[in-house]
Amino acid sequence: APAPRVDGVSDIIKVSVIGASGRMGSTVCDAVDAAEGLELVGRFDVGDELGDLAGADVVVEFSVPDASPANVAHCVAQGVHVVVGTTGWTEPRLQTLRNQVAAAPEGTGVLIAPNFAIGAILMMTFAEQAARFYESVEVIELHHPRKVDAPSGTAARTADLIGAARSETGLGDVPDATEHDPDGARGARVHGVPVHSVRLRGLVAHQEVLFGAEGEQLTIRHDSFDRVSFMPGVVEGVRRVAEHPGVTVGLEHYLGL
Ligand code: NAD
Repeated sequence: APAPRVDGVSDIIKVSVIGASGRMGSTVCDAVDAAEGLELVGRFDVGDELGDLAGADVVVEFSVPDASPANVAHCVAQGVHVVVGTTGWTEPRLQTLRNQVAAAPEGTGVLIAPNFAIGAILMMTFAEQAARFYESVEVIELHHPRKVDAPSGTAARTADLIGAARSETGLGDVPDATEHDPDGARGARVHGVPVHSVRLRGLVAHQEVLFGAEGEQLTIRHDSFDRVSFMPGVVEGVRRVAEHPGVTVGLEHYLGL
């Protein structure tokens, strides 16, 4: 039987935010403030000494791709769990992080999630399911013009999942995409899947996955109209990260998908 609760206070999860002055970070601070059972204890941004992270149990990290690995390493070295939304986590960076977590206090958990919107996670899951049935597929991702990276982390992850499903089914690179595009002028290709990036004022975060076959087409589309769409996923990540030691990529693993 579980041990009886001694007091309610120990159940509060203390949270610090790195990148707290940014678009995502400031929205996360508000969401943590509003969430039951979470307490915002620290806000850090560029130039701040991270130190003991204001005594946080969990850190939420939304900064810039080149700063994120060092920030996350600083947290895990102290056994502080981290929920990471920053993009740019390439396989070599992930491997370095896995080694750092293996050397960290036992039980330390890191969640790296390219997208915290529940609908976007479902879009990726559905795209992965559809991938085995269509030879022809392309991804269009659309974002606000100040986004620093292209293609987006979500598009890269979607292409990753589609690519894996294709190779399991024996489908290789998307054939029509490569045939008349020797210079890659039609967009980036991630795991053999063409990805097109649109940057337009007024947009927040949007993505379409288009599947084509003779006489039919399937489009799976998700739109985040506001950054608040990411907050239930971030809060869920904060609540659960301690139950998932090691490095987990994708919030879907916390949601049973
Ligand atoms: P932003 O530019 O508004 O905010 C980034 C913040 O990080 C700024 O306040 C900046 O000063 C700070 N920063 C820079 N260097 C730092 C350092 N060394 N240490 C601490 N803080 C530092 O960007 P944003 O729109 O909030 O996006 C941040 C990241 O989150 C990007 O990588 C973006 O692609 C990603 N993102 C992820 C999701 C998701 O659901 N996972 C959603 C939106 C954006």
